[in-house]
Amino acid sequence: MDEITVINGKVFECNQCGECCRCLNHIDQLQEYNLGNGVCKFLENNKCSIYNERPNICRGEYLYHMYYEGMDVDEYYHMLHHYCDLIRGGKIDWKKTL
Ligand code: SF4
Ligand code: SF4
Repeated sequence: MDEITVINGKVFECNQCGECCRCLNHIDQLQEYNLGNGVCKFLENNKCSIYNERPNICRGEYLYHMYYEGMDVDEYYHMLHHYCDLIRGGKIDWKKTL
């Protein structure tokens, strides 16, 4: 299935605001994708143009299985949505997040 994150049959509701792809100045692992202003060079119309080949750090499923395996999936999604809100509001503390 394309363009959505699904874990254990549950879909992550992404509103495609694109903000998580505009904060690359804070993400060391994505510097080769950074246009220089924090925006990913693969972000087009708020969508990832390499979605099926995007790096692992951009994959909700990967991050779940790597770092949060065993957490209730709804709880994980709730946590991600909280981070989405913080990113959109410019209130995220990147040092504590990554
Ligand atoms: S910040 Fe959250 S809602 Fe916005 S595009 Fe990224 S994952 Fe989707
Ligand atoms: S590779 Fe895709 S998902 Fe990852 S930051 Fe760039 S546009 Fe966003």
